[in-house]
Amino acid sequence: MTDLNLPRPAWMSEDLVLLEDQAQKFLAAEFVPHLDRWHEEKIYPRDVWTKAGQAGLLCAMIPEEYGGAGGSFAHEAVINREYSLAGFDTFGAPLHSGIVAPYIWRFGTEEQKKRWLPKLASGEMVGAIAMSEPGTGSDLQNVRTTAVKKGNRYVLNGSKTFITNGQHANLIIVVAKTDPKERSKGVSLMVVETEDAQGFRRGRKLKKLGMDSADTSELFFEDVSLPADALLGTEEGQGFVQLMKELPQERMIVAVHAVAMMERAVALTIDYVKQRAAFGKKIIEFQNTQFELAECKTEVTIAKSFTDQCIEKLIKGELDTVTASMAKYWTTDTLARVVDRCLQLFGGYGFMDEYPISRIYRDARVMRIYAGTNEIMKLVIARSL
Ligand SMILES: Cc1cc2nc3c(=O)[nH]c(=O)nc-3n(C[C@H](O)[C@H](O)[C@H](O)COP(=O)(O)OP(=O)(O)OC[C@H]3O[C@@H](n4cnc5c(N)ncnc54)[C@H](O)[C@@H]3O)c2cc1C
Repeated sequence: MTDLNLPRPAWMSEDLVLLEDQAQKFLAAEFVPHLDRWHEEKIYPRDVWTKAGQAGLLCAMIPEEYGGAGGSFAHEAVINREYSLAGFDTFGAPLHSGIVAPYIWRFGTEEQKKRWLPKLASGEMVGAIAMSEPGTGSDLQNVRTTAVKKGNRYVLNGSKTFITNGQHANLIIVVAKTDPKERSKGVSLMVVETEDAQGFRRGRKLKKLGMDSADTSELFFEDVSLPADALLGTEEGQGFVQLMKELPQERMIVAVHAVAMMERAVALTIDYVKQRAAFGKKIIEFQNTQFELAECKTEVTIAKSFTDQCIEKLIKGELDTVTASMAKYWTTDTLARVVDRCLQLFGGYGFMDEYPISRIYRDARVMRIYAGTNEIMKLVIARSL
């Protein structure tokens, strides 16, 4: 694949260059040969998680004492970019490592961190976060799932939908109301180990427009009895605050992903138009093709530069939610435009499933919807006006 030679960010230290190389080699040897089969089967085999764990590609930013690699968000960004450049846009590891594990690391008790983080880092446990419900997505304060205290246990009831990693996950952070009378103040994060959870049921792996091999699913909780220490942290009603604190990082995970998808889309298209001919010329020789790709490359370069700047701020603990929301909304909107223009240059082949550009086109659509819709991003940004 053509290298776009985009500028390397200043935070790309020597150990991150090594990590990039290691991730690239591992994915090329262990995952890429199976890409099409997993796509056809519409799910990843379970051992993909343990293989990624063994290769050090899970929980890179979690401290070593809890089984992680002791890195920062930059490590996550480097690994996630490689997943995407290798064609694994549907793999749920960025959510597992960059969202689920950090909740436990930042808000869990020492006992909770020791119990769950090493297993998430090794891939023995697969993480999911269950916020969305059939009746509510954007309006999280309105969740109907409840975790009611009875004696020294909680009883969890409710249903969740659209949950990434829903079929493989065995450690699920569930957003629930411990005080159903309250809105945001009633929200708590409950950690469910599914193996011992009677009354927990996985629903369908949902059929989708894209992200075919992602096991996005419905989950059901019916009188699931949880121990008191299933509450993340020690205090009820902290869930909404915990969710808000992690938003900048979650939004950056999507932005990093969107930029990597654009990079791959443009690189694949350059390769294609250099080979394909029409009217006795290579497609690249038409000025329209050159202008289209010149504009696409410019947009990717700008998107990467802004995203890299945001990553630098995030590593320093200086990234605010407004700026992260700009990155999430703008990179995913730009991705949609860029990949659409790239696909056009493939002609009919761009519409064929065996051409990766068609998968990128389909997979990209949801990125303007999940992790907070782009309309919600604009609401957040508008509050700063
Ligand atoms: C493939 C996939 C994976 C997902 N993974 C997960 C996951 O792992 N965990 C999880 O919890 N959820 C997940 N989701 C759910 C996702 O986060 C929600 O779909 C998203 O937050 C939107 O919620 P909703 O679908 O209920 O839409 P709604 O909230 O019903 O929104 C419908 C429309 O109304 C707009 N809207 C809503 N409120 C406002 C407002 N105040 N102002 C202007 N416009 C507004 C929205 O932007 C949208 O266009 C996933 C979804 C998909 C499709």
